[in-house]
Parts: sequence; C-alpha cells; structure tokens
Amino acid sequence: MTNAEVKAQMKAENAPINWTNMLLFSITPACALTLVPLYGYFYGYDLYEWVVFVLLMGYCGLSITAGYHRMWSHKTYKAHPLLRFIFALGGAMALQNDVFHWASDHRRHHQFTDNNDRDPYSAGRGFWFSHMGWILRSYKSGRRDFSNIKDLQRDPIAVWQHKHYLKLVLLMNIGLPALLGWLHGDILASLLLAGLLRLVLSQHVTWLINSIAHMWGRQTYSDKHSARDNPVLALITYGEGYHNYHHTFQWDYRNGIRWWHYDPTKWMIRLLSFVGLTSELKRCNPHEVEKARLEMQYRHATEKCHLLDLPESWRQRLEAEYEQLQQLLQQWSEHRQAWYEAKGKRIQETLAHWEHLQLRDKYRELHFQLKIQKRRWQEMVRHLSQPAAAAA
Ligand SMILES: [Zn+2]
Ligand SMILES: [Zn+2]
Repeated sequence: MTNAEVKAQMKAENAPINWTNMLLFSITPACALTLVPLYGYFYGYDLYEWVVFVLLMGYCGLSITAGYHRMWSHKTYKAHPLLRFIFALGGAMALQNDVFHWASDHRRHHQFTDNNDRDPYSAGRGFWFSHMGWILRSYKSGRRDFSNIKDLQRDPIAVWQHKHYLKLVLLMNIGLPALLGWLHGDILASLLLAGLLRLVLSQHVTWLINSIAHMWGRQTYSDKHSARDNPVLALITYGEGYHNYHHTFQWDYRNGIRWWHYDPTKWMIRLLSFVGLTSELKRCNPHEVEKARLEMQYRHATEKCHLLDLPESWRQRLEAEYEQLQQLLQQWSEHRQAWYEAKGKRIQETLAHWEHLQLRDKYRELHFQLKIQKRRWQEMVRHLSQPAAAAA
C-alpha cells in the first residue's frame, strides 16, 4: 500500500477524536517543554531532584519493559506477587493504560503486525500513527477486545490495578513526586521534574519502539514483519531496541541475546531470579535462532550475487558453504541435546563415565568445526558486501 493510499484509507475511516487522550497528550508535553526549563532558569534543580528524576524514569521504564511487556503480555517468565505489585504501580506511573489494555493491544500488535486493519499501532500507517497517532483517535483497529487476555483476568494483581487504575495514576504521578519533594523541601521542583518531565519522556521512549523500531535498523532474523534491530534505540529503551529478534522469537525473556547487547531489562529479570523474585525464564532454542539468522544472511548474499551480476560459480559456492553450515549446525544441535541429556543422566549415575566423555568430545569437536565454518561463511558474506572486491 502506498503512502497516499494509507492516508486516503485513514481519511475515509474518519475516526473520532479521543478528547481525553488528545488533551492529556498535548497539554503534558506543552507544560513539560515550558514550565520545566522556566523553573530551572529561575530557581534551578539540585542533585537530589535530578537523582529522583532518573530513578523514577528507570522505575517507570522497567515496569513497562519487564512487567507490562515481557511478563504480562508475553509470559516469558514468572514473577513473584511482590514484583508484580511493584510493576503494577510503576505501570500506573507510566500512564500507558492498565495492564489489561496494554497487553491486549500488544498481543494484537504481535498477532497482526503491520496489518493496518488489525494491528493497533501498525507501522504500515506511518511514523506518526505508530508513535502516538493511534492513541489520539478511536480507530477501529484499536477497538477494545479483552478476549485475548483471559489469563491476565485471573491475575489478582492485574485485576486490582485495573479496578483502581485512576487512583493509582494520581498517587504515583502526583502523590509520590510531591512526597519526595516535601521530604527535600521543594514540592514544585519535584512535581515538575520527577512528575511531569519524567512522565512525558517515559511515554515517548516506549512509543519509539512502535515507531522507530519498526522503521530503522536491521532485519537480522526475519523480514516477514517490519520490526528492526536497532542497538542505538536499545540504549534509551532499556534493551527493547532489538525488536526484530523480539518479533521473531517473542517467547524469549531476552531481546538482546548476545552478552554485549545492552539489555538491562534482561539483566534485571535474570538477577531477580537469583533471589526468587522471577522464575521459569524462557529462552528460544539457539539452533532455531542461528538458523533464522543464517537464512537471512544467505538470502541477502544471493540477492547481492544477482545484483552484482557475479558469475554462476560464486552463487554455487555460496550455496555449498551455506548447506555445509546448515548441516553442521544441525549436527551440533543434536549433539548438544544429547550431551545435555547425558549430563542429567550421569547425575543419576546410570551413564558410564567413558560414554559421557565421548559425547562431550564429539560435542566440542562439532562446536569447533561449526566455529570454523561460520568464520568462512562470514568472510564470504563480508566479501560480497564489498562490491569491488566481490566483482574482482
Ligand atoms: Zn512484544
Ligand atoms: Zn513491534
């Protein structure tokens, strides 16, 4: 669908304005942009006020990413009731609607990604719509339908938050910053910084994942949806920038899967598992993840061969290397499974020691072979991405 067609479709729908949201999401940023700097200019903010601002910003953000998103919407791990209570309060502070609405919209976003009629914040309708336009009018695609959150309606904490949402919003957005300001002797400064500015910034940070993370970045694991991996965005979204991985493997509690990926939400969930506040952390099978990544690389490389009009021998070589890599990956995965099972059995002392060693050595050998083959493959793909070298 072209941009003009999308605009025409939206015009034809003529969705009524949601005045509560329109006023709320216009007045709060307008006040944040004027009152916060004005107060800062005349009276200034001190270190305490900035520290409270940063802490509440983090609390709000992580309640959405770890709580609303990875726990309630995707069920990638289980959380202790105390943690769910903390997230429910933080989510109300973020003013992004209650768990029911948020998770229901988000589950539909995953089920119908990019479908302009059914994805509540479809990126197919452009940057503005997917960022916040979808909230300002009552579009058909955003119609309330709780049929996909029956499980959450059995969670007493989510039910409690849904019931008292408005009171919790006021308590967390006005009561808490006012109390923290009163303790320090300047209620207004705290209300402006930790209340208003924190609220507006944290909302836009979340919305960037629906807009930018569906437009700019790499499609590392799949191009069946518009989601992108954007490591720069991960820096301000508590790790949610690895959105292509997330849309492809939504049952994984991680978004950034490498150790060097900046994903503080993942680190927090993992750390909390050591003290029993989180459990049953789900990870997707590394074999499936690697298979998806290599398939995307293979497809890009063949397209490149075609584009550069490289001799047939190049394409054949690429195919042969890819097939070999796939075979090795399959063998490695099977041995990995066998070795893990053997380790478990050995604990029960039913597996002979030498048998266990044999399996371990075979696994290590395959791991090494796979590493070498991957290096060859990466070299080849890199070579293809430099047109002059590839054509030579
Ligand atoms: Zn998601
Ligand atoms: Zn998305």
